[in-house]
Amino acid sequence: MTKQQLLQLAKRIVDGRRFAAEEAADKTMYRLRHIDKWRNLEHELRSAEVDLAMGNGDEHTQGKIAALQEEMSALLKALGVQPTDLVPQYSCKLCNDTGYIDGKMCRCLRAELRRLIIDGGNVICKEFTFENSTEKDKHNAAVYRQVEQIVRNGVQNVLLTGKVGTGKTYLLTASAQLAAQLEKSVLFVTAYSLNADLLAAHLEGVEAISTLLNSLVDVDLLLIDDLGTEKIYNNVTGNYLFTLLNERSVAHKQTFFSTNLTLQQLNERYDERVVSRLIDKNTTFVAQLTGKDKRTAAR
Ligand SMILES: [Zn+2]
Repeated sequence: MTKQQLLQLAKRIVDGRRFAAEEAADKTMYRLRHIDKWRNLEHELRSAEVDLAMGNGDEHTQGKIAALQEEMSALLKALGVQPTDLVPQYSCKLCNDTGYIDGKMCRCLRAELRRLIIDGGNVICKEFTFENSTEKDKHNAAVYRQVEQIVRNGVQNVLLTGKVGTGKTYLLTASAQLAAQLEKSVLFVTAYSLNADLLAAHLEGVEAISTLLNSLVDVDLLLIDDLGTEKIYNNVTGNYLFTLLNERSVAHKQTFFSTNLTLQQLNERYDERVVSRLIDKNTTFVAQLTGKDKRTAAR
């Protein structure tokens, strides 16, 4: 699934909440309007309110309105209806379950999008968890344990190197799912799709790129799979990668990478400030996964 499709799906979920909230309120109103007493009270209240608004009321109108309202709430009580049942109870009070505030994504929609990326994105296999791991290689198993601890501690970054099929994506996926279980916001992307998103936003303009970068800095754990498979675009790939790493570290957010490249190859591919951040031992746990390609070994 593309990010756009995931966003549409997330929007549908948020819309679904709004429809359900509105339907529940509508149902209650529908039920009440089939009760003669309620209907009469409502009618009287409306005309008293109209009188008042039009200046046709007398000194009794105000009192009448209050009395009618009191009678209506007594009737609600007798029927076992809460006053809150009459108005839609939206899950998100910020956007009333519309997903947007002034054209910007509300945090409820962003949360839904992240949840979908974890639950339903094609890069994530739900069965890839630390518990399910059958890693037999001693060195790799030790790396798994360390990374699990790092996810729990929520401090360090992780850079996983190693050949194709040594379990890097598995480990990133397990980390993503554990972090989500720990109620952290998580975003799992491939370097390829991240780079494409950055380029598109860059071409769209300053506002688009800053919105994208903000949302990328915002997530607690950002996992970037397969670094090195993306194209290098001048003024885009290296620049934004550096900005991202920098701002995320200032915000104390964790970033995990996997790459098929060796440290030497990383050095040749990215500019120095990016590489020095990627492999900084003070902030980053760098580990190489070893072994045969699991995908061919299993066959
Ligand atoms: Zn919202």
